[in-house]
Amino acid sequence: MLKQRTLKTLTRAVGVGLHSGQRVEITLRPAQPDTGIVFRRVDLPQPVDIPVSALAVTDTRMASTISHGQAKVHTVEHLMSACAGLGVDNLYVDITAEEVPILDGSAASFVFLLQSAGIEMQNAPRRFIRVLKPVEIRQGEGTNVKWARLAPYHGYQLSFEIEFSHPAVDSTGQRVLFDMSTGSYSKDIARARTFGFTKDVEMMRANGLALGGGLDNAIVMDDYKVLNAGGLRYDDEFVKHKILDAMGDLYLLGKPLLAAYSAFRSGHALNNLLLRELLDHPEAWDVVTFDDDKKAPQGFAQLARAW
Ligand SMILES: [Zn+2]
Repeated sequence: MLKQRTLKTLTRAVGVGLHSGQRVEITLRPAQPDTGIVFRRVDLPQPVDIPVSALAVTDTRMASTISHGQAKVHTVEHLMSACAGLGVDNLYVDITAEEVPILDGSAASFVFLLQSAGIEMQNAPRRFIRVLKPVEIRQGEGTNVKWARLAPYHGYQLSFEIEFSHPAVDSTGQRVLFDMSTGSYSKDIARARTFGFTKDVEMMRANGLALGGGLDNAIVMDDYKVLNAGGLRYDDEFVKHKILDAMGDLYLLGKPLLAAYSAFRSGHALNNLLLRELLDHPEAWDVVTFDDDKKAPQGFAQLARAW
């Protein structure tokens, strides 16, 4: 049987929020089967649980924000991406402020945290959302067009294409295909950092955003080049970060997908609309488990051990 997974033990990290600049501590704790991933605002007078779901996403400007009532957590996508990549189904994330720490701007620190705590197999079948019919969201026209799509696939594959018309971005690979069965999330995707442009950063700061951002936790570019002394971590780090974000955004569905995701210039907003479109079409998906590991997509049974 393909089993659900949680952590063996709890683990902690301290950092700052990318947008708020606020100091924040997160504690990742094991959770019972079928709990899903639940953020808990432990700094509020009464702690509030915010379970992840596509419908809990209330803001997608700059980052993905989830809410329950008045309680919010911003910038959940990189931690969610690490959980998707390592196949963590059940987890409590205790958090002391309203934004997940940015750490190094990628998912690598979260992967390290989860791996250090260790992955525990649980005695319950892992439930996948299997896409049966294609669903698509498309916005804009001509040079402004962007789209995201889910199609049936026995496994989990993501392909992403970007177009920025910026010399430092356009000189790198603009297109990446990543397949969970054959690729390594922690090696190939997790280290890709978020990126921004100095001219936008000034505007964002004036609006109280990106207050915690800098060369330690983002690729920063002026009008011509990358300003980080160490350069890029991957030749195609920009588009790989978009895959990292998409994996985090899509994992807000609450269950792993069996699907092929493809996107052109998508982002947090379009990714969430795509999940809502899927949920609005019950005939386009079902929930499956694998009693026999051999019937699962190649590589899925080995996931936790292989890392
Ligand atoms: Zn990101």
